[in-house]
Amino acid sequence: MRCPTCKKVFEESGSLTIPFCSVRCRQVDTNRWLSEEQRVPAGGLDEESPQESPDLLAEEEGQASHLEENSGGE
Ligand SMILES: [Zn+2]
Repeated sequence: MRCPTCKKVFEESGSLTIPFCSVRCRQVDTNRWLSEEQRVPAGGLDEESPQESPDLLAEEEGQASHLEENSGGE
């Protein structure tokens, strides 16, 4: 079975994240869908923004801040 995110061939038996090879790849795919939805222009804001932040980075940042939030409250 081939992971649609990283295109890596992996063994699907015993995997809980089919069709992805890992939880990480599944999250990456989910984030990609979410960011694509958000990217749809809601009005006339179709400015040319050359900055393309990689989904991977955004995901890591989100997770990190989330963890900090959880563990820093005590
Ligand atoms: Zn993968």
